Amino acid sequence: MIELKEVSYHYTDGTKALHEVSLTITAGRKIAVLGNNGAGKSTLFLHLNGLLRPTEGQLLFNGSPFTYKRKQLQELRRQVGLVFQNPDTQLFSPTVREDVLYGPSNLEWEQERIEQAAKQAMEQTGVLEFQHKPPHFLSIGQKKRAAIASVLAMQPKLLVLDEPTAGLDPYYARKILHLLTDWHHEETTIMLSTHDVDFAYEWADEILVMKQGSIQAFGRTVDIFNKP
Ligand code: ADP
Ligand code: ADP
Repeated sequence: MIELKEVSYHYTDGTKALHEVSLTITAGRKIAVLGNNGAGKSTLFLHLNGLLRPTEGQLLFNGSPFTYKRKQLQELRRQVGLVFQNPDTQLFSPTVREDVLYGPSNLEWEQERIEQAAKQAMEQTGVLEFQHKPPHFLSIGQKKRAAIASVLAMQPKLLVLDEPTAGLDPYYARKILHLLTDWHHEETTIMLSTHDVDFAYEWADEILVMKQGSIQAFGRTVDIFNKP
């Protein structure tokens, strides 16, 4: 689905955040990305939906070199949903409901499907009860769930979440993790960064370990952890 070929990325201040990262993401996987703060996880994620463009190397999308032209970017972003670590960066509408409707409204779907997808995403993340509130009135955990709902509603093929449970209380952390387990089905790949190694071990079928901008290991959970 998406392939990175020897991607390096340098921020404008000269920080070398990725170094020759090569990676193939296929359908139907649950991938946990581990690595210390600053290892390059977020920078990698920003490349997956075209928000950052490699300084060197290449992104392949459905087998072809990605060109970063408007149409291709639209197509990439409808297939790759990115949930940021800080929910404030993706909630901008007057109400939660409008934020959740925004994504699907831009896909050429029937009105009924749009409403249905939004409602389902809000149910799954537990935000229905405050759907009419302005996002800035919400707690950090509620915002996080609203941000996840707004991306889930687009039913992406690749769902990428940057530390989805950071800032959540244990009840909602567990709820989100259950959701990510249930929601997952054959055609969808979920990729998330986490510091919770136990969760990664239980949940993921592939583990990607990043260190100082490079891939230290990438493989099946059974192989990475010697899981019996
Ligand atoms: P992680 O998500 O694993 O914590 P990041 O991708 O956020 O790692 O960061 C990788 C490296 O890039 C770090 O050294 C970080 O300080 C740096 N970095 C991240 N964002 C920026 C930015 N906007 N400008 C300059 N350096 C950045
Ligand atoms: P946060 O998502 O930031 O942790 P709160 O803890 O205030 O926010 O909870 C947000 C909403 O979720 C509240 O309306 C609260 O009633 C509900 N809630 C919190 N914990 C539980 C729980 N254990 N069971 C059911 N509902 C809960």
